Amino acid sequence: MLQVGPDLVCIELKGVNAYLWTGPGGPTLIDTGMPGSWSQLVGDLAAHGVKPGDLKRIIVTHADFDHIGCLKALKAQSPALVACHTVEAVYVRGEKSKPANPSVLGYVVHPLMAGFQRRYDLGVWQLDELVVEGHVFPEGFTALHTPGHSPGHMSLLHKQAGILITGDALSNHKGKLSLPMVLATPNMGMAVESIRKLGGLTYETACFGHGPPIVGGASQAIAAFAQTL
Ligand SMILES: [Zn+2]
Repeated sequence: MLQVGPDLVCIELKGVNAYLWTGPGGPTLIDTGMPGSWSQLVGDLAAHGVKPGDLKRIIVTHADFDHIGCLKALKAQSPALVACHTVEAVYVRGEKSKPANPSVLGYVVHPLMAGFQRRYDLGVWQLDELVVEGHVFPEGFTALHTPGHSPGHMSLLHKQAGILITGDALSNHKGKLSLPMVLATPNMGMAVESIRKLGGLTYETACFGHGPPIVGGASQAIAAFAQTL
């Protein structure tokens, strides 16, 4: 666990990050980690005095299994509202698998990834808040539609706190900003546009789905990365 800011904790769950917002409007969880991370997630929440039943809201950046892995279990124990981008709802519910990366290998791995999603039966039907670009959550996060890695991928900007939650719009692997995983990204052109969009905003801290947060100068770092694409 890493305290990213006064009101934000990064919880690493088997290689993917979830974020606990403890500020106004919270406690709120952003993404829910890998399937099988339940006991760690509950323990890490408890370390911050939060039980699943205390959560006010769970915001999902996108429906990949490493981000909604504990959503169903949380929903069973919590009255928290579940929010995602309206375009992502069919994937969070498990009604559809997200499109394949348009390459030979992309089409080869697509059924495997879709199988993972089905195997864990992660779909959550009761989605309480389907949001679009510009929606402001009571916690202060503004929804940003950042498609590419998935059609309804969403990043979140907290202007007042100077924090961007990127989801998998981009990653921070080994101290280096990088594109989302190619084979799990159906539209890399859109993903690049989404990174450019994030690079054009103002924030000090960026929190990624994969890799450590950047604290200080984050929007400049993402803008510089966007220029290389
Ligand atoms: Zn991911």
